Amino acid sequence: MSEVQVPGRVPSPLVEVADERFARRGVRLLLKRDDLIHPDLVGNKWRKLAPSLRAAEGRPLVTFGGAWSNHLRATAAAGRLLGLGTVGIVRGDELAGRERNASLERCAADGMRLCFVDRAAYRRKAEPEVLAELLREAGAPPDAFVVPEGGSNALAVRGCVALGEELRGLADVAAVACGTGGTLAGMAAGLAPGQRALGVAVLKGGFLAEEVRRLQQEGFGVPRGRWEVEDRFHGGGFARVPAGLDAFARDFEERHGLAVERVYVAKLLFALTALVEEGAFAAGTRLAAVVTGRPFPEG
Ligand SMILES: *Cc1c(COP(=O)(O)O)cnc(C)c1O
Repeated sequence: MSEVQVPGRVPSPLVEVADERFARRGVRLLLKRDDLIHPDLVGNKWRKLAPSLRAAEGRPLVTFGGAWSNHLRATAAAGRLLGLGTVGIVRGDELAGRERNASLERCAADGMRLCFVDRAAYRRKAEPEVLAELLREAGAPPDAFVVPEGGSNALAVRGCVALGEELRGLADVAAVACGTGGTLAGMAAGLAPGQRALGVAVLKGGFLAEEVRRLQQEGFGVPRGRWEVEDRFHGGGFARVPAGLDAFARDFEERHGLAVERVYVAKLLFALTALVEEGAFAAGTRLAAVVTGRPFPEG
């Protein structure tokens, strides 16, 4: 079978923006526009899914996510673009009887079959017997290719190596917002020796560094690259957007004409602005912020 071509524009553009908050400290801010890779298969979700789409070789995909999951939407879009069946196992059986939100509506419109499962079972989906039961409940075909929640498998981590490679020679620090940490794990591995990666956790809990180590082990078998994790900027937890953060994002949008996705990208940009203010980067640092996604719904 010939290799599956996943549509998308890489390398993504790297653009410098003039921002006095950074310039004041002698730091150059660059935006790595992964949000422009593909209109429906956006940003790091493209980088993470593309290798699984090739590995699936036409088999249907099954994956997992919450009601607003960017990963679920990207998987559904990939299914439509490549003509693959997709099944989405969604956290929360109480959603089954309700009107679908815009994200799930988009998933369904892209042909994804949605199966709503109770939160207790969802939490235990890594256990083989629970997984088998969930797949049965969802009516997943026996040959289905299972992609974990958030898309972070070994293939995804390796798929993000190119993100680091694209930044070689062009930045000193490459910063990215982290959910599972898969993107950071891969990107760090792709950077050149003098460069370092910085991950900003959007979830509370302080477990991210351990996850990144585990994902590098899974993806490469060894630790790779220089990276660190910043755990202070989750803003109260996943998908929490305090008023101050929202105001920051709106202001950033006005300054730079960039639509700022709130769950991840806003927290990254806010963290970098705060870190620059704290003097975390030496004068002359070229700081690349990865724009991993776009707001959904757009508006
Ligand atoms: C999924 C997602 C992330 C987090 O990626 P991980 O590899 O899970 O850390 C960051 N930004 C956006 C916009 C995302 O959709």
